[in-house]
Amino acid sequence: MNVRDSEHMIAELNAKEPYELTQKLDDADLIIINTCSVREKPVSKLFSEIGVFKKHKKPNAKIGVTGCTASHLGKDIIKRAPAVDFVLGARNISKITKVIEEKHAVEVDIDNDDSNYDFSEYRSNPFKSMVNISMGCDKSCTFCIVPATRGDEVSIPSDLLVTEITKAVNTGAKEVMLLGQNVNNYGKSFSTQDENTNFTALLQKISKIEGLERIRFTSPHPLHMDDAFLEEFASNPKICKQIHVPLQSGSTSLLKSMRRGYSKEWFLNRCEKIRTLCPEATISTDIIVGFPGESDEDFSDTMDVLDKVRFEQLFSFKYSPRPHTPAQDFENQIPNDVAGARLTKLQARHTEILDEVMNAQMGAEHHVYFDELKANGKVSGRSDDGKLFYVEGSEELLGKILKVKVTEVSRGALNGIVCA
Ligand code: SAH
Repeated sequence: MNVRDSEHMIAELNAKEPYELTQKLDDADLIIINTCSVREKPVSKLFSEIGVFKKHKKPNAKIGVTGCTASHLGKDIIKRAPAVDFVLGARNISKITKVIEEKHAVEVDIDNDDSNYDFSEYRSNPFKSMVNISMGCDKSCTFCIVPATRGDEVSIPSDLLVTEITKAVNTGAKEVMLLGQNVNNYGKSFSTQDENTNFTALLQKISKIEGLERIRFTSPHPLHMDDAFLEEFASNPKICKQIHVPLQSGSTSLLKSMRRGYSKEWFLNRCEKIRTLCPEATISTDIIVGFPGESDEDFSDTMDVLDKVRFEQLFSFKYSPRPHTPAQDFENQIPNDVAGARLTKLQARHTEILDEVMNAQMGAEHHVYFDELKANGKVSGRSDDGKLFYVEGSEELLGKILKVKVTEVSRGALNGIVCA
């Protein structure tokens, strides 16, 4: 989502201001640091980055801090780092052309504003097309800062999405990545117009776009994985068979205190349904360990879900207390060493699963959509089920979907050769 926000800012600066991108710091007239604040680490990194940019930038170059950390720290960023010229929140990206003109502008409100989805065109790679389908988040997970930084959830009208995706297809994309905090909650609230739709209907509508061959989306929420949605996922040939089902914890009581809205049983039932309807699908997840109150038993429930679902991909984190969230004040915060040991155990077990999954891929054939040229004479792309592939090749492969045979496996990626 941040990558797409960055593209939107570049688009606005290209179209409405005399700016063009440079890779050279000492050539830049404007430096934008687009930030995340989901966990604490990127926030502390921000201030050291500002220091580096301040030291090496051109004397009159401006520095702006944008994104979620800008939203939640606001003017305090300028207080702490006076070298910063403006602060622009994640919900205010469309105001980029305004804030660059004002000294010490701070735009961080999270009220809705339709200009937030009315951007000029820019994609850093025409073959990788991300499209926001909603903004903000309507959940109140007790650990998560996102609703405080990105505001209420608002869906973007489906006709606009079809227009945007059609444009991407016309400039070379065969695949689209639909983005939102809870994509399968799409259609619950629009800001100005009323549209009676939902995510399943949106997928059906987008599938009709001629020339579009693949649809991916992230993140769906387990709570909204109704049967109709999973059946559409399994049966629609344009939908890639890779699905993110963010667990967070396997313990029903912890899920309750996280306010996730589902139980361990519901989660397992949804994954079982995916495996039954669509055995070829891969399932990825997010897990937080060390959430306040997490007992050994709670953690075993998480390990149990890992063993039952055998996620092909895992993003795992130590709980990080965040401002504007109830969980930072919960009793029974878990000591860092306990959380660390649990994270190590979880990741070690997942590595075993991943090795089994990847080793079984030797000699397999997949249809790969090639979307990136690497510096080492390789071209990368993804199979329908989301596996990362590398083959020897040139830019002629870009934008093509070709059959590839796996010749070498590793945990993170597969090497292969394009089948004749
Ligand atoms: N809307 C998505 C979450 C987006 S944030 C969802 O509900 O699934 C991406 C991931 O960061 C989350 O899934 C969660 O695993 C992790 N995360 C969020 N807040 C966190 C925190 N306070 N500490 C550690 N990890 C966190």
